[in-house]
Amino acid sequence: MSKTAFIGLGVMGFPMAGHLAAAGHQVTVYNRTASKADAWVERYGGSKAATPREAAEGAEFVFTCVGNDDDLKSVTLGSNGGDDGAFAGLSEGALFVDHSTVSADLARHLSETLQSQGCESIDAPVSGGQAGAEKGKLAIMCGGPDAAMARAMPVMDAYAARIVHVGGPGAGQTTKMVNQICIAGVLAGVSEGLRFAQASSLDLAKVKDAISGGAAQSWQMDNRWDSMADDHFDFGFAIDWMRKDLGLALDEARRNGASLPTAATVDQYYAEVQAMGGNRQDTSALIRRLGKSGERR
Ligand code: NAP
Repeated sequence: MSKTAFIGLGVMGFPMAGHLAAAGHQVTVYNRTASKADAWVERYGGSKAATPREAAEGAEFVFTCVGNDDDLKSVTLGSNGGDDGAFAGLSEGALFVDHSTVSADLARHLSETLQSQGCESIDAPVSGGQAGAEKGKLAIMCGGPDAAMARAMPVMDAYAARIVHVGGPGAGQTTKMVNQICIAGVLAGVSEGLRFAQASSLDLAKVKDAISGGAAQSWQMDNRWDSMADDHFDFGFAIDWMRKDLGLALDEARRNGASLPTAATVDQYYAEVQAMGGNRQDTSALIRRLGKSGERR
């Protein structure tokens, strides 16, 4: 069992760090809002640190799961130019694993920074949401060196249903972008299909039953059709996060030349749902911009 640090005890990080402790690893946590770290230690044991640097000192593995690029820079490289970042505390040979969804550019930059410190890193964004984190059944898409992956896999197993090593530094983050691009298109289709079924006065449960075993089947249909039909959106993966993720994909597409007309359009649709007060609502709230008759609002 390993000496680990986990930085960022949000919706995802709190249960993920919990699975590490339950698997028998020695876990030191850091969270910006200290009360969450107190609650974590009370529930899972382990210890808490006052700064990311302190958490990383002496750890074999340092995990992060924070919000966006700026947040990750702050907890790794230090806040406001300070020396409190995790990288200042890393021992030579330690392995850094980031589970946040951030730009591939930042993942590559952190990887290069750590190489010069004699450490390795893996960008390892996750899919599966809060439920996946709590059940320890996340899908993890990884970028980094083979040897680092071999070391990290058995530890990440504590909260994973699937771990795939896609390529070198940044490949995990670009794979997560593919994931979000696919989700955006699927949700646009499910939203229109559901509104069309309502406009045709069909029994929505029977429609789902009829088509979810065929070629229209999707995770979104299986897990969101019923709540979309009930106008229930106050749960799940927030539109604010999805817009961050689509922004990362659109930025990357400007560099790699890929054409993302649907993702760009859905991103603007989400801006409309945000303007309707949907910032923290689940991504399935995309349907709210379609009137019940199937007309655009
Ligand atoms: P969250 O609940 O908002 O938690 C964010 C965490 O990051 C909190 O611990 C927060 O600390 C910390 N943090 C933010 N900015 C910070 C800063 N500048 N310095 C130090 N700590 C900072 O977010 P989440 O839902 O766990 O998501 C975390 C990451 O996973 C995001 O990149 C998200 O896109 C990705 N993700 C989320 C889901 C999901 O369903 N939620 C699914 C897949 C991937 P405080 O407690 O002090 O605010």
